[in-house]
Parts: sequence; C-alpha cells; structure tokens
Amino acid sequence: MQRVLIVEDSKVVQQVLRHLASQHLTVAIDFAWSLQESMQLLSRNEYTLALVDLTLPDAADAEVVKLTLAHSIPTVVLTSKIDEYSRQQMLEMGVVDYVIKDNRDSYLYAIKLISQLLRNQGCKALIADDSVISRVVMRQMLEKQLFDVLEAKDGVEAMALLEAQPDIKLLLTDYAMPNMDGFELVKKVRNSRGRDDLAIIGLSGAGSHGLSAKFIKYGANDFLAKPFMNEEFHCRVMQTMEQLNLYCEIKECAYRDYLTGLYNRRYFYQHTERLLKVKPNQFVLALLDIDHFKKINDEFGHLGGDEILKQVGDLLKSAFGRYVLARIGGEEFAVVLKGYKVNDALEVFNDFRTRFAQTDFSINGRAYRCTVSIGVTSCYSNSLGEVMRAADRALYQAKDSNRNCVVSAHG
Ligand code: GH3
Ligand code: MG
Ligand code: MG
Repeated sequence: MQRVLIVEDSKVVQQVLRHLASQHLTVAIDFAWSLQESMQLLSRNEYTLALVDLTLPDAADAEVVKLTLAHSIPTVVLTSKIDEYSRQQMLEMGVVDYVIKDNRDSYLYAIKLISQLLRNQGCKALIADDSVISRVVMRQMLEKQLFDVLEAKDGVEAMALLEAQPDIKLLLTDYAMPNMDGFELVKKVRNSRGRDDLAIIGLSGAGSHGLSAKFIKYGANDFLAKPFMNEEFHCRVMQTMEQLNLYCEIKECAYRDYLTGLYNRRYFYQHTERLLKVKPNQFVLALLDIDHFKKINDEFGHLGGDEILKQVGDLLKSAFGRYVLARIGGEEFAVVLKGYKVNDALEVFNDFRTRFAQTDFSINGRAYRCTVSIGVTSCYSNSLGEVMRAADRALYQAKDSNRNCVVSAHG
C-alpha cells in the first residue's frame, strides 16, 4: 500500500494537515514531529512521498529534507518563507516542489499536490519535441512528478506512440517540429482522444506568444512559453492533470447510476447506439425487470426497496460485469451480450433467472426472495429504438406468462 510521511512540528499546522489529509488522501499516512521521529519511521516503513517542514527544532538546516531525499523519497517541502537563495538550494537538492505556509489555502494546496502526485505515479506522459535538450529537461521534471515518461522527436512519432499506447494521459508538445508540427498533432489526436482521456500542453520557443490561443483552440488544455521556470512548469502540469481528473469524475457522475453503481440509461443509450451502428448482428440485448417490486416497497418501504436494488445490481455485476450493463429504469436493467446468438443467450439468461430466484437478498437483516422476468432479442437492426421495442415486447410476454421466465422476440 502507498504510504506518505508528513513531518511538521507545529501542533496547529499538523492538526490542519491531518484534517485535510483525511478528506483528500486515501493512502496510509504517518505524522512525525521531529527529525528523531522521522528517522524512526523511515527505518520501519517504505514511503511513496514525503511532505516535510523545512526547519524543525532538532533540524534547523533542512536535515529532514536531506534525509527523505537520501531515502529516494520524492519530497514536497513546507516552508514559512523563501528567498532566491533557499529556493535555488531546494531545487538543487532535488525536491519536487515547495509550498509557502502563509495561509490556510497553502495547506490545502500541499495536500492536493500530494494527492495529484500519488495519482501521477505510473501515469504515462509523452514529450513531443525535436530538441534533445528540451526533452531531457522536461523528462527530469516530469519524472520528479512521478510520471513514466516517453519521448518523440516529431509529431509523426508522437502520433504513432499515442495510437499504440492509449494509456498515455499527458502530452507535452512543441510547436515547431519536422514532419508534423504541434498544431497538426493536437488537431489529429483530438479526433480520437477527448479531454477526459488525454491532457495536452502546447509549448513553443521565445517570441511566439501568439501561438498560445491557437494551441488552445485546436484542443490543448494549456500552453507554456519556453524558457519556463521550474515552478511554472510544475504548476501547469499539476493543474492540467487536475482538470483531466475532474473531466473524468464529471463523466463518471453523468454516466453512473448513483444507487447501484451500474451505468445509467444515458450511458446505455449512447454506448449501445454506437455499437449497433457498426455491427448490430454481433449483439443480443436483454431487458430484465424485477417482478412485483412494488410489493417490496409496500412491505419494507422505499429504503428497503433500495437495498434490494443495490443487491440486484451486485448480482448482475457478478454475472454480466464484463458486458454493457445498465440500470435503465426504476427496477429495470439492460444487458448487451457480444458474440452471442439468441438461443445461447436464452440459456445464459435462464441460468441467471434461476440463480436470481434462489438468491437470499437481505432487507433489515431478513432474507428475502424475489424473481425476475427477462425479454431477449437479437440486435437485428441498426436502430436501437427498434431493438428496444422488440426486447420490451418479449419482456411484456414474460410478465404475461406468469413472470419469472425468459422470452425472446425477433424483429
Ligand atoms: P411487475 O412484476 O409487473 O414488473 O410489477 P412491479 O411492481 O415490479 O412493477 P411496476 O412497474 O408496477 O412498479 C415498479 C415500482 O418500482 C414502482 C416504483 O415506485 C418503484 N421504484 C422505481 N424506482 C425506484 C427506486 O429507485 N427505489 C425504490 N425503492 N423503488 C423504486
Ligand atoms: Mg417490475
Ligand atoms: Mg417495471
């Protein structure tokens, strides 16, 4: 498990950091007051990151920072003041960044920085730049921020890497490059990689400030003019990665059903419509509706009904989690199986129906059993509306045939 060391001698500041860490970090955290205590903790544990006060009563000359760096732990420094000399000194020592303690927001910034660094760990960043020196400088800075760094010497090479490695999450691209320049690269890559999937920062040499707006219009998140200060680079990368995470969170909220954690109706329609446009005949669609669900609400109240819905969601996940699976209505769910013919799918859903009927769901600690009706159809058409109507017809027949059964319909 990832582990963070926080060293701070002020009781008040440590309390603030403890509170913020409990809200924003999900990793194990050890707090130390002094150099002595830090040494003991370091001898017992491995740390992913450290957030360290620059001066402590028993370490007036940044000894704790030197100690964590000597253990090869990426370190963020907390300091009450900074002059140019100590700034240079810290950067030369190799700290990731420093945070000046002058208001409450600085502590929040420090904790969010730690949180982002933890997320960066193992995350791939690609530098597209024809200058070897630029690539070396940026690689060092990105590695300090815990990224796995890849390099390309022009837009064509960058595009090939982005296509081959869809898990690249950050692209830093220079403007002027041979073969394909930065604008072309951003335009091209944005055709397939949205802002929730890839963050992009445009770069260019001195005297080319007019390029920033153009980069952003083509789809970059931000822009950096060379030469840049270490801190500027650091802040922009951090902010851009935060944006990427926010886009992902917003998308996740928009596409997930809050109660069951399954995809919702919006996702189901958008995603399945796209699937059917390409090769409809490969899919089978099923609609599942819990039988007499109203009775459960009547007997146990709405909260009791919600409990059952969550457990049904879990049961569905365990059976169909690798397929498109969504809660598309109150007690109605949809599954799209890939690579099945209707007859095979009928067998799969019949097994599930049996398993469902034999499952002890739990409401207020009491076991409760219920059944499900299922309508199945092949995706014979490109029109999701048509396919849904066929599945709905099948479901209606299942309800009409005493429920707790699987019926198929064909276009
Ligand atoms: P049938 O076997 O014909 O499907 O009967 P049913 O009672 O299951 O179906 P009906 O569509 O008549 O009623 C569904 C009920 O589901 C009505 C509604 O109040 C309840 N419901 C819808 N959404 C939720 C929810 O999020 N939580 C709870 N607890 N109940 C919900
Ligand atoms: Mg129902
Ligand atoms: Mg219903």
